[in-house]
Amino acid sequence: MELTPVQQAFLEKVRSFAQGEVKARAAAVDAAEAFPEDLVGRLCELGLMGIPYPQAVGGAGLDTVCYALAVEEISRACGSTGITLAAHTSLGTNPIHLFGSAEQQEHWLPRLCSGQTLGAFGLTEPGAGSDAGGTRTRAARTPGGWVVNGSKMWITNAAYADVLVFTALTDRDKREISCFLVEKGTPGYTIGACEKKLGLRGSDTHALAFENLHLPADALLGELGQGFQQMLKTLNGGRISIGAMALGLAQGALDEILDVFRGVTLRQSHAFYVADMATRIQAARHLVYDAARAKDAGRDYVTLSAMAKLFASETASWCADRAIQILGAEGYTRAHAAERIWRDAKLCEIGEGTSEIQRLVIGRRLLEAR
Ligand SMILES: Cc1cc2nc3c(=O)[nH]c(=O)nc-3n(C[C@H](O)[C@H](O)[C@H](O)COP(=O)(O)OP(=O)(O)OC[C@H]3O[C@@H](n4cnc5c(N)ncnc54)[C@H](O)[C@@H]3O)c2cc1C
Repeated sequence: MELTPVQQAFLEKVRSFAQGEVKARAAAVDAAEAFPEDLVGRLCELGLMGIPYPQAVGGAGLDTVCYALAVEEISRACGSTGITLAAHTSLGTNPIHLFGSAEQQEHWLPRLCSGQTLGAFGLTEPGAGSDAGGTRTRAARTPGGWVVNGSKMWITNAAYADVLVFTALTDRDKREISCFLVEKGTPGYTIGACEKKLGLRGSDTHALAFENLHLPADALLGELGQGFQQMLKTLNGGRISIGAMALGLAQGALDEILDVFRGVTLRQSHAFYVADMATRIQAARHLVYDAARAKDAGRDYVTLSAMAKLFASETASWCADRAIQILGAEGYTRAHAAERIWRDAKLCEIGEGTSEIQRLVIGRRLLEAR
């Protein structure tokens, strides 16, 4: 894959960190189900918390391809650290970058881009996952601003995020949705216990509750009633990073097999699996970088990002599954990374729009274009 000199140098920097420091910690992070604070601290030191945002607001001023490379390389080493970076950058920071007022941007973007705080995005609710427009959380006007009641589920980074972007109905009859910002510690905003998950066990995932949460008028993000469009735009970009995360996990599964069988002649059936893994990974890489390049070039990338996420996610699950198969019973144990990658990869088929939703998006857009 052709990279510019800047992208290549950036890739080498991130790969060296991921292979040198992150990979060695991945099994322990998973086993302890502990948020990798030390690794996130290193991401901050290396300037990786605001990769695609302008230097003027504290970002690295790099492109979406660089951001995808970073998520891929970090996830190749540790899925939990990869999703932490992806959710922070694409879901927590991007809506403020895209839609925030000058004051909101000035206040939050430097803190988010330096990693002083993590970002989080609260969209999903009980009964409103794929059907994100089915949100029931309600923000009612008060003389000084808003009062919010409702709940969210499965929110990544929530306990480490000083600021949460979330959606709420601002007009129940018209099903009008708007986005808001809330600071951690605001009375009425509570963060539930960390979820016990199949995979990505080091990532921080919580249910949230809003009970008579009073917010000032300037907590509104962007324009009133634009929350659904803002959410779609955020997810369209976010899908590139989940595609990159899946790509990294798939590569991590292949790395595992190549490491274990270095210098050993593989059975032909296993060599076929390895060939198929590498081929699918290469195809996924093209899709992910193509979507990232389209976004950087200002082209329509919605179908491309859905394709990248769909294909890379299913590739990650398939590659981890084949890695376990090649290793046999040992692959089914914690002696190898394959079982962890298999558990981590499954999320990529669910989060930020399930594979079924990606197929709906792709199918609808193809048919609309005719
Ligand atoms: C680890 C983790 C982290 C997450 N992080 C966040 C986060 O930071 N912020 C956030 O807001 N959310 C987050 N989520 C939630 C995630 O985005 C949702 O789980 C996802 O959108 C699916 O919603 P659901 O779980 O309610 O499943 P459902 O929507 O109930 O779907 C269940 C099944 O039905 C299928 N289905 C549903 N509707 C259709 C349809 N119209 N056509 C075809 N098939 C359909 C789905 O594809 C799926 O197979 C996270 C989830 C997990 C597990």
